[in-house]
Amino acid sequence: MYDVAVIGAGPGGSTTARYLAKQGYQVCLIDKDRFPRDKPCGGGFSPRLVDEFPYLRKRQGDFLRGVCRVGVIHSSNQKTVLRGRADMAVALRTDFDNVLLESALEYGAEPKMGIRAKSLQIDANSVKVELTNGDHVTARAIVGADGSTSMVARETQLNAKWPSNHITACRVVEIPAKTRDIIERYSEELEYHFFANLGGLPGYGWIFPKLDTINIGLGIVGRYAKGLLRYFESFIKMLKRDGYIAKSAELNALKGALLPTGGTIAKSYSERCLLVGDSAGMVNPITGGGIAHAMVAGKIAAAILARNLENDALDDSDLGKYQTQWMAEFGKEIKSQLIVQKVFTGVFANTLFEIGARDSVLQDTVSAMMSEASAGRNDAYRLFGRFLYVCLREALTP
Ligand SMILES: Cc1cc2nc3c(=O)[nH]c(=O)nc-3n(C[C@H](O)[C@H](O)[C@H](O)COP(=O)(O)OP(=O)(O)OC[C@H]3O[C@@H](n4cnc5c(N)ncnc54)[C@H](O)[C@@H]3O)c2cc1C
Repeated sequence: MYDVAVIGAGPGGSTTARYLAKQGYQVCLIDKDRFPRDKPCGGGFSPRLVDEFPYLRKRQGDFLRGVCRVGVIHSSNQKTVLRGRADMAVALRTDFDNVLLESALEYGAEPKMGIRAKSLQIDANSVKVELTNGDHVTARAIVGADGSTSMVARETQLNAKWPSNHITACRVVEIPAKTRDIIERYSEELEYHFFANLGGLPGYGWIFPKLDTINIGLGIVGRYAKGLLRYFESFIKMLKRDGYIAKSAELNALKGALLPTGGTIAKSYSERCLLVGDSAGMVNPITGGGIAHAMVAGKIAAAILARNLENDALDDSDLGKYQTQWMAEFGKEIKSQLIVQKVFTGVFANTLFEIGARDSVLQDTVSAMMSEASAGRNDAYRLFGRFLYVCLREALTP
């Protein structure tokens, strides 16, 4: 019997497995895909991630595809642009996730790749995970790091289904391009773009230029996402017209995925089980960024499990500390980001852009939020405070 079965070897699962295996626990890491594999994603994250996970520093050459330095945010009516300096690292998930997986295997986590976990049975002493190849795995505890459509969340009733206004449907494509062409279009600073509420629908489009690809995506909140492909095609048409991508750009590797953007689920643990990352909705509702949260939650989950496995304190009542800790780390900031998301998808969004365009501090703040370069905490207060300050400054200036 394993100590812990981790379902899903994305950022959340591999990080959890790494920290547990490093402490000598027997960990089994199960993923339905064989790695290296792609995961539909923008692949953008704060360069601060390597400070939180220093073991990634020496592997940066294996996954880093550049650092974008200037964020350009376009208003919904396309009339206003906010431009601010904030660094955002970019990677291909194929490389990044593979490095994370290798970092877990390095410490002895046992991989079961290319096998889907089908169902669970949790009893007083163990968890049994049924696999689609007919085998099963037993462990003392389970970690559900199986993404936005989590089987573990469903089976444990921690999240039976996302409400349609809590999920964003996305289309994304990584377009190969020559580095010279990318620099011509996005400058040496690799300007990254966000397009707010395209077509007046809640969500956003993005362009993340990388070393030799341009990542383009569009996400629309589930309830409004019927016809997403059509919206994506018009987005691409607009980008071709405005010179963001070549008219001949190949779009055959278009992918779709779901992203939980309506905040975290109410409870992320149950008897012998923790949920980590997208499975628990640990995503920034403004940007859709969830890589860092999944990894931080994975680290916390490993620490809690390591302590509780010692004396088999794995009941529901023993695991609440997990939720307390990730809430303190980033959960509260997701709540405030949800407010910002609602305001920026509301009727005053274009007006806020107009105010923002008159203040360089606001523009840097918005870029820092979108790139997750800021520490996150108090972002919403800083943003709204600055909006208020700009309005008062203008009202009181003769
Ligand atoms: C279009 C799009 C763009 C995004 N862009 C960004 C971005 O630029 N920056 C950012 O920070 N975040 C971004 N995100 C969010 C980010 O991808 C997720 O937050 C992050 O991947 C969460 O990590 P995770 O480990 O929780 O889940 P995942 O990365 O989704 O990993 C889950 C793993 O579980 C496996 N799995 C699923 N079900 C099973 C099963 N039953 N059995 C076995 N294995 C299973 C999957 O194969 C997968 O490998 C984006 C998301 C989308 C959809």
